This record gives sequence, structure tokens and C-alpha cells, in this order.
Amino acid sequence: MKKIIVTGGTGYIGSHTCVELINSGFEVIIIDDLSNSTIEVLDGIKKITGIKPEFYKIDLANAKETLRCFDTINNISGVIHFAAYKAVGESVSLPLKYYKNNLNSLINILETMQGKSFKNLIFSSSCTVYGQAEKLPVTEQSPIIKADSPYGNTKQISEEIIYDTINSTENLKAISLRYFNPIGAHESAEIGELPIGEPNNLVPYITQTAAGIRKQLRIFGNDYNTPDGTAIRDYIHVTDLAKAHISALSRLVNNENKTNYEVFNIGTGKGDSVLEVVNTFEKVTGIKLNYKIVNRRPGDIEQIWADTSYSEKNLRSKTEKSLGDALLSAWNWEKKYRNIT
Ligand code: UDP
Repeated sequence: MKKIIVTGGTGYIGSHTCVELINSGFEVIIIDDLSNSTIEVLDGIKKITGIKPEFYKIDLANAKETLRCFDTINNISGVIHFAAYKAVGESVSLPLKYYKNNLNSLINILETMQGKSFKNLIFSSSCTVYGQAEKLPVTEQSPIIKADSPYGNTKQISEEIIYDTINSTENLKAISLRYFNPIGAHESAEIGELPIGEPNNLVPYITQTAAGIRKQLRIFGNDYNTPDGTAIRDYIHVTDLAKAHISALSRLVNNENKTNYEVFNIGTGKGDSVLEVVNTFEKVTGIKLNYKIVNRRPGDIEQIWADTSYSEKNLRSKTEKSLGDALLSAWNWEKKYRNIT
């Protein structure tokens, strides 16, 4: 059984990926500092898969702790590196917190890998690297433009750090997956997205409004140059996104990669507006959402969606679930977590 280290494995995308890894026959070891997740996620993974992954509470930004932890684990086949801070707004007010954590943890992992025999790395990147692209949909060749936030910048710099390190290290291989907007939850509703405090993201805000935890959803702007005036994103079901990691990892493990560093878009290839998301949520759940239109949110781009042809062909990764499936799964998770019947 191939052993995979998943950093940030108790987080939102990390936990869903752990489930898919276990279901695909991998042995999973989670490293997380629990700064934005809870240890109970391990129980959720166990309920779904029957297996509770081995867990290490480690600050990966600490080089010594990182090395010591990796030293205790034998026969590692690869690392999937999710662990990072991700709140865009917070990164603007606390840039050093973001640079220090997101970059140091990556550097420590790469440095550890250089001295070890396991050579396969999957990195969580983001479509934020494209900014507001002039041409849509965006392909992996679309220009990278200056990031709007320190968070976005850590993703751009991280990709460069990986590229340079791969180029100078024999046998080291990596794939960066540029995620579009992950939403939804595992169909069992045992794991899902659990933001601490008031959600920043659209779908948790919607489900918390439907659950009565938030009074009203604010739709940020209806004066964009889009068919209904609200902003457009490419929303991908988190389970489809998780499965893309298995494809990427298998590509590296089976030496199917074309070059030692590759980049793939992971989205659905379809853009939906905020109002379309709201309307679809209302349709699949039968719940009327209390919402109002307010001003645009600073830093938001108007529209983006992925060209997925390269990843479909090369990763054999194709999304299976619709926007409605994803929104219903998010609601089922919220209901179960809040004990709503
Ligand atoms: N959005 C919104 N109300 C909210 C949260 C988000 O209207 O409470 C909009 C946001 O302006 C963007 C889209 O929903 O157009 C997706 O935002 P999210 O924060 O989920 O992801 P982002 O694309 O910003 O990473």
C-alpha cells in the first residue's frame, strides 16, 4: 500500500482528498496544526472509510519540527501539500503571517524531500494566479498577472519556488493543481466545509443563512458586465476536486508525467453567476434565501472559468457532479452539523 502524507488533511479539501485516497487504496498520514480545523474530522473520515488516518499535529513552518516528523515516517511515496492560510482579506491586513506560514512550510517540505527518497509532490494552487484574465476561459498558458492579495501572491511565489527547486533537484517531481471554486461536501455529510466565524465564501454563507445562523446573504454587486450583472465563477464539487488529486498523484507515482513540473486547471469548465448559485440552491433545497444586493466586494474579479481540456486529456480528470448536486450536498452537511431536521 502506498503511503501518502497529506498536510492540511483535516481541512476542507484535505479531508475530502483523504477519503478518496483511502478509497483508492492509499495509506494516508495527516499532518496539520489544527489552526483552522478540528481533530473530530478524523472521526468523519473513519465513519466514511472505516479507517482513521495516523495524525501528527505539527507546525510545518518550523523546519526542525517538520524534519523530525518526516524522519519518523518510513516508506513515503508522496506528499500532497494543502496546509496553508487562505483568507484573502486577512492576508491583506496581516501579510507577513501569510508569507511566513505559506512559504516557510513549502520550503521546509521541499528541503526535507531533497534529503529523502520520496520525490512526488502535489501542490494546492489557485486560479487566483490568473487574476482577471482578458480571455476566457483560462488555459494553463494564460498569463499570470500580479496577485491582488498577499494570499494570491503566496500561491504564485510557491509555484515559482517549486519550479526552481525541481529544476535543480534530480528526481524531484511536482504537480500544481490550480483550483477554481470548490464547494459542497461528501455525500455522507460526515465531512464538509466548516469556516471558523463568519464565512467569507459564498456557499457556506448561503447554507448558514438557510440554517438561520446568518440573517441575510449579501450579494456583492449586480453591476458587473455579465448577463445578470453578478460575478461569475467556476464552482467545482469538492469530491470531484479531491479525485483530481488521485489522478495527479497516480500520474507521478506511475511516471506518466511529461515534465518534472506540471500545472493543471481543476474546474468544471462552466461559469455560474452568484444569482445562478442562489437560484439553484433555492431550487434544489426548496428553501427561499433572504438576500440583498450590496456594493461590490473590493478585490473581487468580474468573471473566470476554466478551460479544462488539458486536464481532462492528461489527468483523465472529469467532473461528474453538477452545481445542484454540490449545493444540495453543502446543505445536507450544514443540516447534519447543526442538527436541523
Ligand atoms: N459572494 C457574495 N456574497 C458572499 C460571499 C461571496 O456575493 O457573502 C460572491 C463574491 O463576490 C464572488 C463569488 O460570490 O463573486 C464567490 O466568492 P467566494 O468568496 O466564494 O470565492 P472567491 O471567488 O472570491 O475566491
